Amino acid sequence: MYIPTIGLEIHAELRTKTKMFCACPNEPDAKEPNVNTCPVCLGHPGTLPMANEEAIKKVLKVGLALGGKLATHSHFDRKSYFYPDLPKGYQISQYEEPLVTGGMLKDIRITRIHLEEDTARLLHEGGSSEDSSRRPAGTLVDFNRAGAPLMELVTEPDVKTADEAVAFARELQRILRYVGASDADMEKGHMRVEANISIAKEGEGFGTKVEVKNLNSFRAVSGAIRYELERQEKLLRAGKKVAQETRGWNDKTGETESQRSKESAHDYRYFPEPDLPPLDLAAWDIDTLKRELPELPEAKRIRFAAEFSLAPEQTEFFIDEPTHAEFFEATASEFKARRAGGNYALLVNYFTSDLQGLLKEQGISLSESKITPEHFAHFVALVDEGKLSSRLAKDLLREMFITGEDPEVLMAKSGKRLIGDATELEPIVSEIIAANPKAVEDYRKGKGNALQFLVGAGMAKTKGQASPDVLRDLFERALKN
Ligand code: ADP
Ligand code: MG
Ligand code: ZN
Repeated sequence: MYIPTIGLEIHAELRTKTKMFCACPNEPDAKEPNVNTCPVCLGHPGTLPMANEEAIKKVLKVGLALGGKLATHSHFDRKSYFYPDLPKGYQISQYEEPLVTGGMLKDIRITRIHLEEDTARLLHEGGSSEDSSRRPAGTLVDFNRAGAPLMELVTEPDVKTADEAVAFARELQRILRYVGASDADMEKGHMRVEANISIAKEGEGFGTKVEVKNLNSFRAVSGAIRYELERQEKLLRAGKKVAQETRGWNDKTGETESQRSKESAHDYRYFPEPDLPPLDLAAWDIDTLKRELPELPEAKRIRFAAEFSLAPEQTEFFIDEPTHAEFFEATASEFKARRAGGNYALLVNYFTSDLQGLLKEQGISLSESKITPEHFAHFVALVDEGKLSSRLAKDLLREMFITGEDPEVLMAKSGKRLIGDATELEPIVSEIIAANPKAVEDYRKGKGNALQFLVGAGMAKTKGQASPDVLRDLFERALKN
């Protein structure tokens, strides 16, 4: 029986106005290469860095959100290594005094969170037989990302499974977004995960760990951990040893591949960055940062589930979309004011199905749509009061979506209303029965969808205004004898 041990190292690009140590705009994804550069982030000799206060505050907020201990004193260190994406020949990072230590998320202990600068982006191109440009193989460097603020979070080796690792990374992503620290989009490289993975026989301590890099999606995190646990177990079962090494995840093959062995691991020669003063965080206004923290995903999860009696997957929908959660809450309180004891389930349903459907169809976000919480609440109240059939409701919601008008105003304009009055519908029912002898015969033979057909004809005749329930009732009664 082998016990897995997994620790995560997660990098997140911080969302700030400027880069970490210079005044360049922090736009690593800018369309044109090398537009956000200056002598500082290009590593010219004689330039001096200045630490970005906004970036430090964002890391401190993440630390608060995770229940970590904020440093009262901290400083930056130089981490030296050579690579073409690192113009200075060293990265300014933090080694001895990270901004945050400790904290916990989903029962996984957090070791530390520190702040550093991102590297430039390398673009390898040409040289392959598939490349039609026939340019020689080469590598281009885009310095837009160089010197962008980057947060690194390291966990204790508390993770046991691929699912736990993914759950941790997903929840961290939400927190980063909630506190406004990072867009944390993995596909865009805003958030990058590395997994340290080892296995050992029960009672035999820790095994040799392998570090897997390049995990740029949750699928990759899960796939790499599963693959690695299996690979290592096979080795051990065959009496072999796991080599301590860095491996990369190959998305195409679904396998990890050896990149370098730990023997060639770098000596980074860390030492305190002499060009930056130490950070006297004890003098910072941490209370304000605490006050600025929003309601966090877990608190919102518990409150939403209880307040609106949501199913778990409905709760997660709102947790993942805080702007939708906000809109929904505003709608719910409007709805409550209109209809005390009203049917929340109906509200949730129209929100998560019909409204989302319209947004998707039009390819716009909720904030771009013209619909307001007031109008949406009014609309659901009308449905709840029985003033709209589901067919009328669908049309009306679309109309509201396009015009941004109040539902009752739109109903008055179109003259459409729900016809639920039997005496008004009886003549139509007789007319349809007379015109459709075949369907009537089918109905009498017990064919189930004949009734459906007749009701449909009634709906069409009334332009969708008839109550389908009343129609069904009338047809059944009329055809009984
Ligand atoms: P290194 O110095 O090699 O980077 P660290 O001690 O800094 O190693 O740990 C890096 C990451 O590896 C952390 O997330 C930690 O929890 C994890 N880790 C440490 N030991 C193991 C192990 N035996 N198996 C799996 N992960 C481990
Ligand atoms: Mg490491
Ligand atoms: Zn710059």
